[in-house]
Amino acid sequence: MKADPLVLVVEDEVPMRRLIKTSLLAHNYRYLETDQGRHALELAASHNPDLVLLDLGLPDMDGLEVTSELRTWSQVPIIVISARGQEDDKVRALDTGADDYVTKPFGSRELLARVRTALRHTRRDANGKDLSKVTVGDLQIDIERRRVSMAGRDIRLTPIQFKLLSVLAKYSGKVLTHRQILTETWGQAHASESHYLRVYMGQLRNKLEQDPARPQYLVTEHGIGYRLKVE
Ligand code: CA
Repeated sequence: MKADPLVLVVEDEVPMRRLIKTSLLAHNYRYLETDQGRHALELAASHNPDLVLLDLGLPDMDGLEVTSELRTWSQVPIIVISARGQEDDKVRALDTGADDYVTKPFGSRELLARVRTALRHTRRDANGKDLSKVTVGDLQIDIERRRVSMAGRDIRLTPIQFKLLSVLAKYSGKVLTHRQILTETWGQAHASESHYLRVYMGQLRNKLEQDPARPQYLVTEHGIGYRLKVE
C-alpha cells in the first residue's frame, strides 16, 4: 500500500498553519511545516514531499523565489497561498511553475479540493493514457478522437475552439494563467494577446454553458486566467 501523501506547508502565520494542519491531518495526509523559505527548500530536498503549500509572503524569502528555486530540480506540485488583491503575484507564481493557488481566507473544503486536484495531476502526468478522455459533469471531451459532447449531445467546435478546450481539459480543475493558455493554444508569439482568449472563451461558453453569463464549467479566475471546474 502506498503511504499517505506528504504535504510540506510553508507559512509564517501560526493560525493559518493550524487551520491547514487540522484539515490535512483529518483527511489522512502526512504533514511537515516550516515558516521559512530557505528551510522549506531543505525540507523539500530531504523529505521529498508529494505537495507543497507555499505562502507568498515569508520572512526570509519571497515565495516566488522559493518556487523558482524549487523548480530548478523538482516537479512537486506547488499550491501558493496568497492574500486577496495579490493577483499579479499569483500570476507570476503560476507562470514561474506553481500549480494553483488559494486566496486567504479560505475554508478547509476549498483547500482540500485544490490539494486533491494538484495530486491527481501528478499521477495523471505519469500515466498519459488518462489524458485522452476527460469527463467533467455532463461534459465529455475525447481529445484523441476530437469529439465533445454535453449530456450525450454532440457539440461541434471549430479547430481553435477545440484546441482551447483541450488545453483546459488537460489541466482540468487547475487554474491556468492567460499566458499559459495563450502559449499552449496559439503559441509563444501570441502569449500576451488576451483578447483572443476573451473572444474564443465567449464562443466556447455559448456552445457549452447553459447560461454563458454564469458559467458552470469554464470559470473565470479574475485577474489570473481560467479554470475548467471539476468540483
Ligand atoms: Ca506570510
